[in-house]
Amino acid sequence: MLARGKALEAQGRSIIHLGIGEPDFDTPAFIRKAADAALEAGYTHYGPAAGLPEFRKLIASTWRQRRGLACEAANVVVTPGAKPILFFTMLATLEAGDEVLIPSPAFPNYVSIAEFLGARVVPVPLLAERGFDLDLTALAARITPRTRMILLNSPHNPTGGVLSRATLEAVAELARAHDLIVMSDEIYADMVYEGEAVSIATLPGMAERTVVVDGFSKTYAMTGWRLGFGIMPEPLAKQIAMLMNNSNSCTATFVQKAGEAALSGPQDEVHAMVAEFRARRDLVVAGLNAIPGVCCALPPGAFYAFPSIAVPGMTSGQLADALLDQAGVVTLPGTGFGAEGEGYLRLSYANSQANLREGLRRIGEFLSTRVGTRIGR
Ligand code: PLP
Repeated sequence: MLARGKALEAQGRSIIHLGIGEPDFDTPAFIRKAADAALEAGYTHYGPAAGLPEFRKLIASTWRQRRGLACEAANVVVTPGAKPILFFTMLATLEAGDEVLIPSPAFPNYVSIAEFLGARVVPVPLLAERGFDLDLTALAARITPRTRMILLNSPHNPTGGVLSRATLEAVAELARAHDLIVMSDEIYADMVYEGEAVSIATLPGMAERTVVVDGFSKTYAMTGWRLGFGIMPEPLAKQIAMLMNNSNSCTATFVQKAGEAALSGPQDEVHAMVAEFRARRDLVVAGLNAIPGVCCALPPGAFYAFPSIAVPGMTSGQLADALLDQAGVVTLPGTGFGAEGEGYLRLSYANSQANLREGLRRIGEFLSTRVGTRIGR
């Protein structure tokens, strides 16, 4: 959708981008300067596969303090972005035929990787009427002797939902009872506007069976730098480091030094960015709900809105296509995140308030001629 939007822009069309999942802010200047200084200081060579020891130590102490995780440097593996942790963890732990419970809708990479490895993806619906909470009854019913892993993502892409402590406690109980690995993608943990995003790894008996996936892409607006990490039991960390050694060798060392600066420097710009996202979220959700036929819950986290939109005779894929071609607005169909996303669009509000207003105006105008009755799932 992004490429199609860009192609239309190249033809002179005005396009509003509500598709892309990355902050529209620049990486804070002090982080960019730290990378410059690291290059000048000679951080231009290979480094240890699992990450620079001082950086792993800093990540461990920061996550102990910020997120309450019981971790040490030996639990941390640094990778080029968060995605390699998703890939390597599944590669290291899943055999063909193993079953993986994945919420639906979900970030599409989870399903791609699991299926590529020959694992069986078992979707677990999220309940729209309960703020996209996990359907715990379905989760429990879908555990079999072949189940190996539960995937969690909170705050959630694409719905912006945040799992409650009670839900996480119930998932933890199932994971302990059935000896399952939990992969907990917490990359949006700093973008929470109501309540708290608890890490399941902090619950009793969970650190030893959980891989926390996190990174710098969203919080520090560093998507293109490629800097992420996993926090996991030490024996698994050793395996993942071996996969790093045999694939990337290491994460660029000057990028790790920039990451060190990001964690130890002032956090004001992060706080300002999150405050701006909150204002945009309120603007987008109010604007969407003012359009007849659109129903959008207030997402407590991440930077996505996930409205249900009822247009008679149109799938969400057709709707996203028509919004781009006819109204000049890039959105993503809910079905890009799994079958359960039918009837929804994902809108990223990582765009200026002026552009968000214009996008909403265009969507409203487009829908005014086409919408039937409100469905609201
Ligand atoms: N996990 C989720 C839920 C995401 O939305 C994304 C990026 O959009 C990632 C992981 C990937 O992060 P990274 O760019 O650090 O690899």
